[in-house]
Amino acid sequence: MTPTPLVSIVSPFYNEGQGVDLYYRSVTEFIDNFPQARFEVICVDDGSRDDTLTRLKDLAARDGRFRVVELSRNFGKEAALTAGIDFACGEAVIPLDADLQDPPELIADMISQWQAGADVVVARRNDRSVDTFLKRKSAEWFYRLHNRMSSLAIPENVGDFRLMDRAAVDALKQLPEQERFMKGLFAWVGFRTTTLEYVRRERSVGKSKFSGWKLWNFALDGITSFSTIPLRIWTYIGLFIAMMSLAYAAFIVARTLITGVDVPGYASLIVVILFLGSLQLISVGVLGEYIGRIYIESKRRPKYLVRKVYEKNQS
Ligand code: UDP
Ligand code: MG
Repeated sequence: MTPTPLVSIVSPFYNEGQGVDLYYRSVTEFIDNFPQARFEVICVDDGSRDDTLTRLKDLAARDGRFRVVELSRNFGKEAALTAGIDFACGEAVIPLDADLQDPPELIADMISQWQAGADVVVARRNDRSVDTFLKRKSAEWFYRLHNRMSSLAIPENVGDFRLMDRAAVDALKQLPEQERFMKGLFAWVGFRTTTLEYVRRERSVGKSKFSGWKLWNFALDGITSFSTIPLRIWTYIGLFIAMMSLAYAAFIVARTLITGVDVPGYASLIVVILFLGSLQLISVGVLGEYIGRIYIESKRRPKYLVRKVYEKNQS
């Protein structure tokens, strides 16, 4: 580590036009008052449809520490973050949300932990009171379910806001998957990790880009990326039902032998048929989830496409 190391801050922007100035002010206020490190800031415009890009270009033209990577369309936060991390040159890299929900001041503590020997410094939000009840609960269930099903534990309430040493970043860049569930990938690479606590603030301006449906799909991505239990569980469910059926068959045969043929049974038959039919549909659906992901991975398309990079003294 050099005496004043270069630290990269990476921020994905999607329709955050109103927040760009505030972002610039907060970030520069922090880095101007932190001479112990040099900073570069990579702002990734993830195909915004408002004036985000124009405003970011202004920043890059004004301040040489800011570089702007324009993606060719909206690729989603995970891909935008991946793009930013790929462009970062620092000895440490820090993803920071553009909406300032992650306080830039915490970076000072992250850097001192890093200088004390940690490879990764994660920030855990110790209070989710800015989130709705539903979001809090669903996040809690997600972590519980995920960590039970996968051999890889994702630390609870830890988002993308963290510091990663160059070694961890290079390890992360080696992971070839196209579908990038960053939280999981960050956890997968491991390295010596320290945790800091912080209070997550409200968004500076604008609305969250993650609706309930998007979060649901995000959770599915997370689970299918790191666990095959949803695929394997059908074997056990199948075995269990087969054993039950055998026992029931034996019971029916015995009863028919003793009390004769028994015709009524429409209700029980239809229940069993519907139940097994829906189980089969669910299991086919689970297969589909995985096959869909194998299909996407097998196409080997790039994770994102860059339209242009803007930096000072370059057009
Ligand atoms: N974001 C992005 N692409 C998207 C959606 C979001 O780059 O398709 C960025 C967004 O601009 C913000 C960060 O990802 O900087 C987190 O998004 P948001 O604040 O909406 O998520 P939340 O904090 O509600 O989880
Ligand atoms: Mg946010």
